[in-house]
Amino acid sequence: MPNNNKELTLSAPLSGPVLTLANVPDAVFASGAMGDGIAIDPLNDTLYAPCAGEVIHVARTGHAVTLRADNGAELLLHLGLDTVELQGDGFSMLVKEGARVSHGQPLLRYDLDKVAQRCKSLVSLLVITNGEHFQARPITLKAVKVGEPLLHILAKTSNRTQDQEQDVSLEVFGQVRIAHRGGLHARPAALIRQTAQGFKSRSHLHFGGKSASCDSVMGMMGLAVTEHAEVHVSSRGSDAEAALQALLATLSTALAEETQAVAPPTNPHRRAAEDGVLHGVCAAPGLATGPLVRLKGIQLPPDPGGHDIEDQRRRLSNALEHVSQEIRLTLDDTRARRHRDEEAIFSAHLALLEDPLLLDAARVFIEQGSAATHAWSRSIDAQCQVLQQLGNTLLAERANDLRDLRQRVLRALLGEAWQFDVPPGAIVAAQELTPSDLLQLSAQGVAGVCMAEGGATSHVAILARGKGLPCLVALGDDLLGREPGTSVVLDADGGRLELAPSAERLTQVRHEQAQRTARRAEQHALAHTPAQTRDGITVDVAANVASSVDAAQALANGADGVGLLRTEFLFVDRHTAPDQAEQRQAYQAVLDAMGDKPVIIRTIDVGGDKQLAYLPLPTEANPVLGLRGIRLAQVQPQLLDQQLRALLQTRPLNRCRILLPMVTEVDELLHIRQRLEALATEMGVNERPQLGVMIEVPAAALLAEQLAEQADFLSIGTNDLSQYTLAMDRDHAGLAARVDALHPALLRLIAQTCAGAAKHGRWVGVCGALASDPLATPVLIGLGVRELSVSPPQIGEIKDRVRHLDAVQCARLSAELLNLGSADAVRRACHQHWPLG
Ligand code: PEP
Ligand code: MG
Repeated sequence: MPNNNKELTLSAPLSGPVLTLANVPDAVFASGAMGDGIAIDPLNDTLYAPCAGEVIHVARTGHAVTLRADNGAELLLHLGLDTVELQGDGFSMLVKEGARVSHGQPLLRYDLDKVAQRCKSLVSLLVITNGEHFQARPITLKAVKVGEPLLHILAKTSNRTQDQEQDVSLEVFGQVRIAHRGGLHARPAALIRQTAQGFKSRSHLHFGGKSASCDSVMGMMGLAVTEHAEVHVSSRGSDAEAALQALLATLSTALAEETQAVAPPTNPHRRAAEDGVLHGVCAAPGLATGPLVRLKGIQLPPDPGGHDIEDQRRRLSNALEHVSQEIRLTLDDTRARRHRDEEAIFSAHLALLEDPLLLDAARVFIEQGSAATHAWSRSIDAQCQVLQQLGNTLLAERANDLRDLRQRVLRALLGEAWQFDVPPGAIVAAQELTPSDLLQLSAQGVAGVCMAEGGATSHVAILARGKGLPCLVALGDDLLGREPGTSVVLDADGGRLELAPSAERLTQVRHEQAQRTARRAEQHALAHTPAQTRDGITVDVAANVASSVDAAQALANGADGVGLLRTEFLFVDRHTAPDQAEQRQAYQAVLDAMGDKPVIIRTIDVGGDKQLAYLPLPTEANPVLGLRGIRLAQVQPQLLDQQLRALLQTRPLNRCRILLPMVTEVDELLHIRQRLEALATEMGVNERPQLGVMIEVPAAALLAEQLAEQADFLSIGTNDLSQYTLAMDRDHAGLAARVDALHPALLRLIAQTCAGAAKHGRWVGVCGALASDPLATPVLIGLGVRELSVSPPQIGEIKDRVRHLDAVQCARLSAELLNLGSADAVRRACHQHWPLG
C-alpha cells in the first residue's frame, strides 16, 4: 500500500465483519486503553500482514503479534479475546521476532473451530500501540475480505484544525469546575463512567498534568480532583460533542446526597484523655449499650507461589462473577426499596469490580505466579495506596470501598461463609467495617458499631445513618485490644465509647434510651387510633406495602389500611408470569393480613424501564414515556384481564380496591371498568370492588374533575407526578435534590386534583413518597388530601403530626404556598408555619 509521508493504508488482515473498538466485548480494548484501532470478527483461519514491516513482538502463546510499519506505527494484531488462556493450543505462529514481513504475508494460522469453541470471542483486534504519534481512521465498517483497504493511519500533527476537518472521529474539549462535594470520589466517578458509557465516543479527564479514561473509576479517582477544581474533558468519536456536554453536566452537578443537608454530625476535636473512654468521631448519631463483639478481617497466609496460571485466572474470574451477582442482587433490593444512597454506593462497587486498572493488575500478578487470592489482594492494596497518597481525606476514605471488595472476593475465593455470627444487641468493634458488612450487621439487629479507623463521610457512615445505627469511627487501635463481652456504652452523639461504665452510668443511659423509646412507643400506641386534626378532621394513615409480610407489619404499626400494594413485585425477578391462582393467593394474603382494613391494590405497573424477561415489549426510545402502567392494556390485554380476574376472586370484595397506574384520560378508566364488569359477570361475581385512578401525570391532575366523575377515588403518585411535571428523571442521581414534590407547581396540581374530586364527592389520597414526609403533612391536609399512604415504620409519627395540626389553618396557609416560586421556598415556609418537633 502507498506509504506517503507517514500516512499509511492498512489492508484487512482477516476476512469478516468490521467493528469499532467501542463495540468489542472487552473492557480494556473497548476503552481504548490499549490504543486506537479496529476489530474484525473473522471468518477465515489465517492472519495476514496488513502492511510491510518488522515483527517486533510475538506472543509466547502464539495468539498475537506486533509489527512496526515502515512509517513507525506499531500495530498489535490480537486474535480473539482472552485467547492467551488457550496457552498456544490451536495457534501456529508463522513468523519470528525480528523478521521482516511483506504486505499480505501470512503471519499466523489458527484452528478456527477449536479456538472459536474455547475462547470468549473470536473478535480480533488491530490496535496502534504507539497512538500518541498516530491516529486511525476506519475506511469501512462493513464486512471486508483479506487485503481490502481497512484503516487509514496518519501521523498526529500539531495543526489540530486541519486534522479535525479531515477526521471523521472528531475530538472535542471542554473544561468545568467540579461540583461534587469532596471532589471526584467513587460515586461521582461511577456516575461519570456511566454517563460516558452512554456514548460511542471515548472520553478522558485531564487534571494536574495527568489523564484518565472516563471508563475507569479508579483512574479518575487517581487524578485526585478536588471540589471546585477545574478539569479538562476530551471526547473523541462520532458523538463527541454530545458526550462532552453530558460529561460536563455530570461533573458540574453535585449528587443529591451531597446537596441535601446530610452532613454527618461531627465532633472532630478529640477530647482530652479520659479514663476508660475512647474518643472518636460520630458517623451516625444515637445512644446504645450492649456487649462488645470484635470482628476481624481476613488474613491471608503467605503465598507459596508456583500456581497454575490458568487455574488461578479462572478462580479469580469465577469469584468476581460471584461477587458481582451478589452486588446486583443488593442493587435490585435497594432499587425496589428506593434507597438511593445504598443504590449509589453499591453501583460504585460494581463499577470498581469491573475496573480495568484493578483487573489488569490482578491478572499481571497471577501471570507472575501469585495465587488468585494474593493477586487480588495486591491489586487492591496498590490502588488503596494510590488513593491514600492523594492527600484527600474523602478519597482516602474510599479505600474502604476497595477493601470491601477485597474481603468479598477473598471470601468467594476461600469459600468462606458470608454471614457473621453476631448476637442481636451487640456493639460491634472492628478495625474497619465495610458497606456490605454494615448491611449485614444491621439486618442481624446489632445495637451499634465502632471502628478503630474510618471516616464520618465514608459510605459505611452514610449507610449507618440511613439505618439509624449509632456509629463511631476513628477510635484508634486501643479499641481492638478490649475484652469482648464486656458491657459498653456507645454515645455516638458525644463521640465517646465508654469501656467500663459504672452501674450508675448504665442506669442513666438506659433511662435516656427508655425515654426515647417511650416517645416512639407513645406514638406507636396512639398509632392504633384514628388520627384527627385538632379541629376534628379525620385523616387515614395507610401503608405502602409490597407483600403480606409488609402488610402484617403495617397493621401492627397502626395502619388504617393499605394505601398502595405495588403488584409488580410479584411479577419481577422470575422467568414466568405468576398465574391467576398464584396472584389471587398473594392478594388474598394481603387482605387477610390487614384484618378489617381496606387494601388498595394497584394493577401491574411494568413496561418502561421495568422489563419482564417473559413479557417481550417493544424497545422504547423513551421508556418512561412509553408503554407502561395502564398503557400495557393496549399491548397485553390478557395480562390485565388475568390480574382483574384474580382480584375479583379475593374476599371480601368491599375491602379490595383496585387502583390504575399512569392514567392520562377518562377512556382508559372506562375501558377497565367495562372489562371489570364483563369479567365479573362471566365469573358470576355480584359485588364490584371500588376502582380508583392514580394521579401521577399532569394530564390526570388537570382532568381530575372528569376522572373523579367516573372513579371511586383518586390517589396521587407524587413520585411520577414530580418526574413528569418537572421534566426531571426521578432516578437521576444528579437531579435528585431538585425532584422535590413540594414544588409549588405540584402543589397546584394537588390542589386542582382535590378540587376536582370534591365536585363529585370523591376522596383523594397520596401514595407517593411525599406522604411520608412530615414537613408535607400540613400542606397535603390543607390542600384537601384525606388519606396518606406512608412507609410502615412512619405510621405513628405521621399520625402524631396530624394530631397537632389545625385543618382550617393548614388550608389557609397552604393556599399561600401555591404562590411561592420554588420547592425550597415552600420548604422554608413549612418549617416556619409548622416546625417539626
Ligand atoms: C408514584 O409515582 O408516586 C407512585 C406511588 O408509584 P411508583 O413509585 O410505584 O411509580
Ligand atoms: Mg408511579
